[in-house]
Amino acid sequence: MSNETRCDHYDVIVVGAGPGGSAAAYYLQQQGIKVLLIDKARFPRDKTCGDALTPRAVTVLDGMGLLPTVQSRAWQINGVNIVAPRGHRVVAAVPHSKCWLPYMLVLPRFVLDDTLRRRAIEAGADFQGQLQVKALAQAGDGVAVTGEAQGQTVRFNAQALILATGANSTLLLQVGLLQRRPVMALAARAYYEDVYDLSDQIDLRFDGVPLPGYGWMFPVGQSSANLGLGLFPTRWASSLRRQLTATAAFEAFIQTPALQARLRGARRIGPIKGFPLRVDFPGAPTTKGRIMLVGEAAGLVNPLTGEGIDYALESGKLAGEHLATLFRTGQLSPARIADYDRLLHARFARLFHLYRWTRRLFVNPLLLNRMVQLANEHTYLKLKLVNLVLGTSATAPAIQLALR
Ligand SMILES: Cc1cc2nc3c(=O)[nH]c(=O)nc-3n(C[C@H](O)[C@H](O)[C@H](O)COP(=O)(O)OP(=O)(O)OC[C@H]3O[C@@H](n4cnc5c(N)ncnc54)[C@H](O)[C@@H]3O)c2cc1C
Repeated sequence: MSNETRCDHYDVIVVGAGPGGSAAAYYLQQQGIKVLLIDKARFPRDKTCGDALTPRAVTVLDGMGLLPTVQSRAWQINGVNIVAPRGHRVVAAVPHSKCWLPYMLVLPRFVLDDTLRRRAIEAGADFQGQLQVKALAQAGDGVAVTGEAQGQTVRFNAQALILATGANSTLLLQVGLLQRRPVMALAARAYYEDVYDLSDQIDLRFDGVPLPGYGWMFPVGQSSANLGLGLFPTRWASSLRRQLTATAAFEAFIQTPALQARLRGARRIGPIKGFPLRVDFPGAPTTKGRIMLVGEAAGLVNPLTGEGIDYALESGKLAGEHLATLFRTGQLSPARIADYDRLLHARFARLFHLYRWTRRLFVNPLLLNRMVQLANEHTYLKLKLVNLVLGTSATAPAIQLALR
């Protein structure tokens, strides 16, 4: 499988080989559009993450023909256990729906992202790893990309560019897509082995964590798990968040009696790793001239839960298919590229407004306690709550069709 670039001019260059970039490269290449996929990392590479693939993510992986490969290495999740600040819990099955497969998977990003990258290469994309893109320039009907690979300056040209660079906004600031660094959420995670009482459920815990935020325990196997904690910004909590690092909050979280009971005899594998998350969609820009943003680069991370692999995959697919149509119909222009912004908003804006609105309730421990109690008493509310945290809340019928 080639890792080398073969020419310096492409139809599309995709910067960032995370889920968003690899999905975009795959869907473009599927339609015969010549793609160069670039990443600064050497693959396979790790990405600090909870590793949970929601039903939305699993459904896109299925569409890419990756489900058998991914499933053979992942841990399947069929239920969600939500624990309120005072310790009440509600357990719900992953909901069945017409749009998404009715289960989740947990797979370390070291494996997932390399599987996706390989899929894009199999489809025909060229890949260049260990190449850090340093500068972008739009001129006439193209985009020039300058980067550095092993001390050498390299240049590539393309008719359009997809930036899928995750939470790192350096290039976005450089090309004027962002005027300042956005306020970000913070999260930290670590892997543990010999964890007690793991099952086919994930735990989302609001006990022992600063709100708005939550702790998680995602099984990656019979007795190993990814444990983590996310802290989300609000107008009044963001300065506090800057003082309280996610790593410090994580260390306090694992000392809570509930966690200690599960971790007795467990061993931590590797360090606790913290990382920021961009959660500013739908306020974030998504196109400029011949540049399109995909995944976290477009702020597409659920501001309630921090899951973003699903939105990275979905927006990568959307961007790839939209660009491929423009190439096929000879309509490639900044005005038509900007239609991608409308497509993204049509699919995600309502959902993200709902998350943002709900996050205000998640600041209040009394409300959270009551919500979990009520969800336990009313099946309808339980379904609403689990759909909300998994990002599988009902969307408009037109969107349901588009997702198929
Ligand atoms: C602690 C934590 C836990 C999380 N848990 C979950 C979870 O359980 N489930 C979930 O769905 N989401 C989770 N998320 C969010 C998820 O990790 C991101 O939303 C997702 O990785 C976004 O995918 P992406 O493709 O947009 O970007 P990324 O996966 O971040 O990929 C970006 C890529 O761009 C490359 N890159 C960046 N700049 C350059 C450059 N200048 N030149 C070349 N390459 C460059 C990087 O090397 C990287 O490979 C979590 C996030 C954190 C921090």
